[in-house]
Amino acid sequence: MLPTYDLNKIKFSTGEATFKRAVGLYECGKVTEIGQLGGYYSALVLGAKPYRVSVSARNYKQGHCTCYLGEKDTLCKHMVALAIHAVMDGKPLSDKDKEFSHGIECNGRCGMLNKEELEVFKKSITESMRYIKPYRGPSRTWFANQDSLQEGCNRLSAVISNVQVSRQVADILVKLLLRLERKVSRGGVDDSNGIVGGLAGELVALLEQFARIDPTCIDAFEPLCGKEYCFGWEEPLVRILDERDAEEYNRQLEESENMRSNKKKEAEIIKAFKDKKFIDEDMAGFITDKIVEAMPTLKGAIDKYNMNPKDMIRFQMVSEMCWAERERKGLTFKQISVALKVPQYKLKDIEKSGVKTITVDILERYINFLGLNEWFNSWKKNNTDVYERLSKNKR
Ligand SMILES: [Zn+2]
Repeated sequence: MLPTYDLNKIKFSTGEATFKRAVGLYECGKVTEIGQLGGYYSALVLGAKPYRVSVSARNYKQGHCTCYLGEKDTLCKHMVALAIHAVMDGKPLSDKDKEFSHGIECNGRCGMLNKEELEVFKKSITESMRYIKPYRGPSRTWFANQDSLQEGCNRLSAVISNVQVSRQVADILVKLLLRLERKVSRGGVDDSNGIVGGLAGELVALLEQFARIDPTCIDAFEPLCGKEYCFGWEEPLVRILDERDAEEYNRQLEESENMRSNKKKEAEIIKAFKDKKFIDEDMAGFITDKIVEAMPTLKGAIDKYNMNPKDMIRFQMVSEMCWAERERKGLTFKQISVALKVPQYKLKDIEKSGVKTITVDILERYINFLGLNEWFNSWKKNNTDVYERLSKNKR
């Protein structure tokens, strides 16, 4: 008959030291003369001495061994080695088979589980939870009950270890944490040894890592808030959620304050334009940033042609003034060009706000010709830096 247990069963319900020694015996071919009779396996296991060993095909912990421990009815490595032989049928163990879970580990990678993987993951959790059973007495069953808790927690550790990080899994893990909490607080599970509590602590530490790797997982902690749980396992996670919310609140506050001050600035600038007031460096900077923000490709053009949009905007006031005055006087570029003995394109540069090519002596002569000296002097006073840069243009 085939054993009703499998390798995981043996691994998860045997202590690590005993399991590893049993693996050693099995791998070195020390399990010999295997036989089967009446639902029991038997063998001669070559330890310090050869021992006669038997284990049940239904429960590997039921059996006998002629070694010192076996004589005292304690599970020994020889029995476990025979049980491993029964489930492996002499085939070699893989590294994963031999790997003993040391708590829950995080693989640090993000990624969703597909539908089937998700089903398997949930099902494995549910199956493991069956081992986390209430203790109802009598007292002689207490140790077996604690063994079962340990097996359940070992199984959960193995299922959860190295699962990919995602909000989807975070939700499942939070639910698991709440289920464990209910089992211990109201479900009659006796966790006086702290086996379940230990697992819960690891689960919380894993979820903390989830939050660091993928902050969207923090939303999964919501069900842990606003309720008082008995053990306070959830506290580190609630704290993460609180801190995130506080940060978010501050960010929104800052954003709305920025928005208000932007709106105020916009209103000021629009008013300055309407009142034909001078645009200062700060305002010109603000306008330029807004335009570039709305038209990102513009930035490339600005850099490529080495344009100075801030100066252009601030000089615009002079361009407009010249244009308006020329129109009012009914003069053409040609007429002014002849009168001032300057090429027409130089005058056009001024009215096009061409701050890279305008030369100040021609500008001053044009201003003088139009009779705008007084107005222009006050613009100069407010825009000394722009005027200085214009002075550096080659004639
Ligand atoms: Zn033994």
